[in-house]
Amino acid sequence: IKGVRHAYKTQDGPLPVLDGLDVSVPEGGFVAVVGPSGCGKSTLTRLIAGLMKPDEGEVRLHGDLVKGPKSTVGMAFQNPVLLEWRTILKNVMLPLEIVPNRLSAREKEDRARELLALVGLEGFEEKRPSELSGGMRQRASLCRAIVHKPEVLILDEPFGALDAFTREDLWQTMLKVKEREPFTGVLITHDLRESIFLADQVVVLSGRPARTQYVMDVHLGAERTLDDL
Ligand code: ATP
Ligand code: MG
Repeated sequence: IKGVRHAYKTQDGPLPVLDGLDVSVPEGGFVAVVGPSGCGKSTLTRLIAGLMKPDEGEVRLHGDLVKGPKSTVGMAFQNPVLLEWRTILKNVMLPLEIVPNRLSAREKEDRARELLALVGLEGFEEKRPSELSGGMRQRASLCRAIVHKPEVLILDEPFGALDAFTREDLWQTMLKVKEREPFTGVLITHDLRESIFLADQVVVLSGRPARTQYVMDVHLGAERTLDDL
């Protein structure tokens, strides 16, 4: 993301949100973006996913300009939207039904089951979303975001609605997932500890309209623990 500027068109005229945004995520890297509420973090995720075009500047994936919605981008949000009429297993399998792939029905199911086991949801495959706790739903939504092996995973405050214990538990799960599943990740968060625990690099946005203020490298190994924070 280079030199991105963006303003929303509103009834009261243009609302400049981003002004001079630079974020670079190395392939296979995990970058956290932190900044105050309303500074344009979710706007940034829409730009990466190709759901919106910036007024100026460029968004590239593997060097190619992002021109429209990308199925190679997986997303998970603060309030996971799981479909109540489908089981947890079927919810996780959803992207495999939408994004073209060569998997058989059996392989799709195995893939979803394997991920659910990885995040500790073994035995909950046949439950409905409302039968799970918030933390469990968030785990399921994480599985759904990565089931089709997206090149880029965007997490927009995925742990924000959870209590501190559940959140830290999910951080550990996230590290485990990161170790097992190859993806390039962008984590949006308010929580500086979370950003340091999970990311290799932290990009700080501020100002109105917001710009990249600084970029901080995190020097914690893969074996990081909460005591390192
Ligand atoms: P939070 O941390 O609270 O989630 P954010 O950093 O994700 O905030 P955005 O949701 O990107 O912030 O919003 C940035 C600014 O753009 C806000 O002032 C918001 O009101 C405005 N905005 C967001 N979406 C739209 C839209 N569709 N139309 C007009 N203005 C919008
Ligand atoms: Mg947001």
